[in-house]
Formats: sequence, structure tokens, C-alpha cells
Amino acid sequence: MTAATGTPFETDEQRALRTAVAALGRRHADTHEDDPDVLWREAGKLGYLGVSLPEEYGGGGGGIVELATVLEELGAAGCPLLLMIVSPAICGTVIARFGTEEQRRRWLPGLADGSRVMAFGITEPDAGSNTHRITTTARRTPDGWVLSGRKVFVSGVDTAGDTMIVGRTEDARTGALKPCLFVVPRDAPGFHRTAIDMELRAREKQFELVLDEVRLPADALVGDEDAGLLQLFAGLNPERVMTAAFALGMGRYAVAKAVAYAKERRVWEAPIGAHQAVAHPLAQAHIELELAGLMTRKAAFLCDAGDGPEAGEAANMAKYAAAEACVRAVDQAVHTLGGNGLTRAYGLGRLVTASRVARIAPVSREMILNYVSHQSLGLPKSY
Ligand SMILES: Cc1cc2nc3c(=O)[nH]c(=O)nc-3n(C[C@H](O)[C@H](O)[C@H](O)COP(=O)(O)OP(=O)(O)OC[C@H]3O[C@@H](n4cnc5c(N)ncnc54)[C@H](O)[C@@H]3O)c2cc1C
Repeated sequence: MTAATGTPFETDEQRALRTAVAALGRRHADTHEDDPDVLWREAGKLGYLGVSLPEEYGGGGGGIVELATVLEELGAAGCPLLLMIVSPAICGTVIARFGTEEQRRRWLPGLADGSRVMAFGITEPDAGSNTHRITTTARRTPDGWVLSGRKVFVSGVDTAGDTMIVGRTEDARTGALKPCLFVVPRDAPGFHRTAIDMELRAREKQFELVLDEVRLPADALVGDEDAGLLQLFAGLNPERVMTAAFALGMGRYAVAKAVAYAKERRVWEAPIGAHQAVAHPLAQAHIELELAGLMTRKAAFLCDAGDGPEAGEAANMAKYAAAEACVRAVDQAVHTLGGNGLTRAYGLGRLVTASRVARIAPVSREMILNYVSHQSLGLPKSY
């Protein structure tokens, strides 16, 4: 058993969801790479993509606990859906909590059934991890907004009908720039995208965006202009939990492949898995994934209970633990297969790059260690 198939902390319903999604993932495992959109559509129809969104807007009425379970199980079956991290988890959560009634009706049913995808753009070339430095700016006009700036590494802009952009508006009183969220349609004049040539083999591509005086109607602004940070974090905590779930799924997939191989492959008398030099690192990877899974479930639970500081701390820790466990699990899995670890046929080599994504995004390992140093331990800042 190499799978964290549920915990005593899950309800019967959550366990049933986990089992059903795992079965869906297994059905798509062999064909997923050819056309991942098929799984997206089916998961949407079955209510899995919208499981955390409110029922009155077409969702399942669950929380991030359930949504993270879906992503983890699809990943563990070898077919993760990266855009779940942004479309339902960030954009869906923010719109459900802070959108107007009209905005909820317009966007949530499509996000819930997967027919509408919304990307999310916060990263900027000159700001990077220092999101306080973002300069994409919204200027008010008599009938709406004009948005200008640049973004980088934004995932899925080609498939997403809209992108939620983190911009800033000028405070009329103080002149200070405060974060605000805008939904920008893909075909808006002045909204340009260029695919970045990434070393990743995935359907979801990353884009550099130029927003050149993009004119938006007044209701493109989601939420309150004065509560930008609070609204943003309502989306970013689920993003971290979902990235943890993404990493857990990938790590479990890699360990399962390696264990199956180690049981079969013989180069001496016993299968290679009998050698402790092969078995122990796999056991260690399994333990580390289980531990990270526990933290992820705690963080998801806290996100669903509200987004106070404990949710933020737990979400960061879960993302850190799961990403590190995933990187180590993939490394060991590839090594277990010897040369086959790097063949396309066995499908593990590509995970060497993919597993690093969770260490870098949406917030890097070092920025989480900074956060815990300052926020949890009260240590002084170096920057
Ligand atoms: C596959 C992929 C998908 C992505 N999808 C999206 C998306 O959909 N939307 C979006 O907005 N963004 C997305 N990103 C961007 C991602 O969130 C950023 O890459 C990440 O936040 C890091 O920013 P950066 O790349 O500018 O690195 P930088 O901020 O330049 O950091 C470079 C290195 O310096 C370290 N560093 C920086 N500051 C400090 C410090 N104070 N102390 C210690 N170390 C430090 C970092 O840890 C890192 O190792 C994606 C990235 C990838 C790789």
C-alpha cells in the first residue's frame, strides 16, 4: 500500500469522494496525456471541480478539504489537473466570498462544472516573490477601469476564458497603492499573451502577459476596493493547500510506480526491493508523504473554518512539507528504476522537473521558511 487512502479524520462522505475520484483517475491514467481536457470535462460534469463552491451556484457545497482530495487523488492516479489550483480554488473561492450576486451568477456555475476556466495572475517579472512590488495598476474612468502592467508565468491563459489579475489602485486619500482583483476576458483589447518555453511536459502552459491599457467595465472589479489584501488571502491559502495536494498526488504516484518496479525487477536472486538501500528510501518517502498529507488536511480544515492567521500558517507549512516530500519521493522513484527511470515509457523522468514546480510556486520554499521564521518564531527580518 503506497497510498494515503484516507485517514481516520475523514467522514464517510469524504472517503467515498476519495475512492470515486481515485477510480476516475485510474480510468483516465493511460489516455490523460493525449487529451487532458477530457478528464477536466468529466470531472466537471461529476461535480468534482466545483465540490468546494456553494450549492446555490452549481457547486457541491463542500470545502477545500474536498477539493484538495480531488486533486490529490487525480495526481496519485497520474493525471493531475493543475488548473484546479487556480480556477475553482483561488478564483472560485474569491468570487464566492467577495463577488456581487451578479458576479457569482455569471461565473460560479461555469467554474463549478468546468465549462469555464479562470486563470490567476499575480507574479510580475520585476517583483517575483516580493508581491508588495507589483506595479500592474488600475486607473478609474467614468465607466470602469483601465488596467496596465505585466505578468509572468501565468498558467492556462490559453484555455481560460478569463484571467483574474491582481492589480493595484491608488488610494484617493493617501496615494498609496492597494491590491485589487480584476477579471479580464481573454479577448479584451490590449490583453496580450506569449507562451513561455518551459522545460515541463504538461498541457497547462505558462504565459507572459502584457496588459496595455486594457479597458474594463466597472464590474470587472471583484470585491471591495478597500479590502484587497484580505480578499487576496482568502484565495491564496486555498492555493497553497491545493499545491500541497498536487505535490502529494505526484509523490504518491511516483512511489507507487517505484514500489511496483522494485518488487518485480531482479538483477541478483531477490527483487531489488529486498535491498534495504532501495527499500528504506522508499519507506522514508512514503512516511514523509503521509506526514505532509496530515498537515495538508489540517490546513484545508482550517481554511474551511475561516482564513485567520492559523489557516495561513498551516497552509504555508503544508505546501512546504508536501513539496519537499514530493521532490524527494520523485528523486528516489526515478533512481529505483535505474535507466528506466529516465525513459519516456515509464513516465517518471518528466516528474523530476514537474516536482520542482511545487517547491517554487506559488510561493518558494525560502519564502515559506521566511514566513515561519518571522510569523511563527518571531525572528527578525533580513529584508
Ligand atoms: C509551472 C509554474 C506555474 C506558475 N503558475 C503561476 C500562475 O498561474 N500565476 C501566477 O501568478 N504565477 C505563477 N507562477 C509563478 C510563481 O508563483 C513564481 O515563480 C514564484 O512565486 C517565485 O517567483 P520568481 O519566479 O519571480 O522567483 P524569485 O522571486 O526571483 O526568486 C528566485 C529565488 O530567490 C529566492 N528568494 C527570493 N527572495 C528571497 C528572500 N527574501 N529570502 C530567501 N530567498 C529568497 C527564492 O526562494 C527563489 O529560490 C508559476 C510558476 C511556475 C514555475
